[in-house]
Amino acid sequence: MRRSSLRHAGAALVWLALLAPGAHAFQAQYGPLTVTYVDPRDRQQLAAVYKAWETAARDLKALGLAPPAKVRIEAAGHAADFAARTGEPVNIAASTRGAVIRTQRLSALAARGLLPTTIRHEAFHTAQPAGLPRWLAEGLARTFSGEAKTDPRTPTGLEGVPDSRLDAELLNRDPTRLNAAYREATIRAARLVRARGWTGALKW
Ligand SMILES: [Zn+2]
Repeated sequence: MRRSSLRHAGAALVWLALLAPGAHAFQAQYGPLTVTYVDPRDRQQLAAVYKAWETAARDLKALGLAPPAKVRIEAAGHAADFAARTGEPVNIAASTRGAVIRTQRLSALAARGLLPTTIRHEAFHTAQPAGLPRWLAEGLARTFSGEAKTDPRTPTGLEGVPDSRLDAELLNRDPTRLNAAYREATIRAARLVRARGWTGALKW
């Protein structure tokens, strides 16, 4: 009886430790990058993370942007853990604040073919100029990452809305409307890049 309840208590502690926001079991270092992850299988994705980061950093430099000297990537253990760490909906791939990038479990992103574009997208956010409106920051991040290439060409339904309303839609995080808002932001950002080049678009 006693032994079984102890074992139970032990299991509960491990579970809590895994779920606690910011908890991590493993850490890896690569140049300016520190990567922490909870699921040991994520180790197999580290090389892909490093490669995506290096390419992104090089391409950002070519645009006159520089990622911070030190960046931390924190991979969650599972979707609910990601939501707890970020306050984001569970279907969002990653979220960046300053030099800290929080992502879904790396193997989950890789299985869906999203790992390299997610790293590139978030790398852009770490290096973007201060003061960009939200729609432009997201649109440029999705243009830079290559995510826009697989967007459907169908109307977004948001063609007529002002940029400020697009910002509000992106801030709202309504999972049923978020995709259209990201897509519309990307169309507008890409249009700006075509008209003014990256340098012009970044000087918004
Ligand atoms: Zn973003």
